[in-house]
Formats: sequence, C-alpha cells, structure tokens
Amino acid sequence: MSGCLFCKIAAGEIPSEEAYADEEVYGFHDISPQAPVHVLLIPRKHIASMNDASEADGALLGKLLLAARKVAAKLGIAEGGYRLVNNCGEDGGQTVHHLHVHLLGGRGLAWPPG
Ligand code: 5GP
Ligand code: ZN
Repeated sequence: MSGCLFCKIAAGEIPSEEAYADEEVYGFHDISPQAPVHVLLIPRKHIASMNDASEADGALLGKLLLAARKVAAKLGIAEGGYRLVNNCGEDGGQTVHHLHVHLLGGRGLAWPPG
C-alpha cells in the first residue's frame, strides 16, 4: 500500500536491518529495540492490523509465527525463551498500521506488560 512505512521497508524502498526474508514474510530489527533481540516480522502483503486479517490469511499468519521461531533459533534465544507480541489498535498500542509480530528476547521479560 502506497504510503505505508512497512510496505516500503518490505519492498526495500526504506532501509532496514534484515533478519529474515522469504516470498511472503520479511523480518527486520526494530529501530528502537526494547530487548537485546527485537525483530519485527511482517507479511509482504499489506494487512493493516489483526482486525483486518481474513480467514484466507490464516496460513500467512501461521508463517509469521514460524518465521519468528526461525529467527529466534538463528539469533540464539530459542532455548532461553522469547515473547511474540501483536499490538492491535489504539488500546493495543499499535503505532504502525501494517500487521506485525514483535519477537522479543535475550533477557527475562516482565509479565504482565504495561
Ligand atoms: P507497534 O507499536 O505498532 O506494535 O510497533 C511498531 C514498531 O515499529 C515499534 O517497535 C517501532 O520502534 C518500530 N519502527 C517504527 N518505525 C520504524 C522504522 O522505520 N524502522 C524500523 N526498523 N522499525 C521501526
Ligand atoms: Zn503496509
């Protein structure tokens, strides 16, 4: 979608530090990391938020989670553990309106989140 920051990042029009790439999913390091590992996994297809995902996107959503698992293993945090987060909408704290999964790890993470 034109004007979407993460669509531009997935297309390589805005630089990012790649952590994962395949035909449908792109992963890159968060510009403002909240943990030693903080990677964002996005579908290359523009979906604004979880509220906008359809039944037909089910396999793609699964691929996002599996890509996160692969990145966790590659970056050495699989054994220690990690957190996958999707922020949806205003109350969820979503600031970029292109669906993404945060992969956070590399330190003990508090629960519940704020
Ligand atoms: P949200 O708050 O929507 O769940 O998460 C958006 C995330 O995108 C934030 O963690 C923020 O730091 C990250 N972010 C925003 N703009 C950029 C950018 O231009 N490059 C990268 N790598 N991350 C970004
Ligand atoms: Zn987009």
